[in-house]
Amino acid sequence: MIAEPCIDTKDTACVEVCPVDCIHPKKDGAEFADVNKLYIDPETCIDCGACVPVCPVQAIFPQEELPEKWAGELHADRRRLVRTAEVALGCLPSRRMGSQPSRQGMDR
Ligand code: SF4
Ligand code: SF4
Repeated sequence: MIAEPCIDTKDTACVEVCPVDCIHPKKDGAEFADVNKLYIDPETCIDCGACVPVCPVQAIFPQEELPEKWAGELHADRRRLVRTAEVALGCLPSRRMGSQPSRQGMDR
């Protein structure tokens, strides 16, 4: 779980060390400029802990150890994950592409 201290730091040090590529978005990804902090896909994360010591602002916590003051981040990250999946499936446009919403997958 990536908490508030990542906001506007986004140096992607954690992305570089993650062995399963589950921290999003990537620096060269379409969504990178749109988010103020990165987030972890909990379905892919293997809890190896490699990202924790490389974070310069101590923003990464196991979900059960997330300080209460940042609990809202958990819900925000889940919304981002759903949106990222929808963009990947073509249900929503990437905001940076400036295109109109695709109807692909909506008419079925
Ligand atoms: S704990 Fe390991 S697998 Fe999970 S986000 Fe960090 S580096 Fe990636
Ligand atoms: S290392 Fe820390 S500050 Fe840098 S992107 Fe990852 S969570 Fe954010």
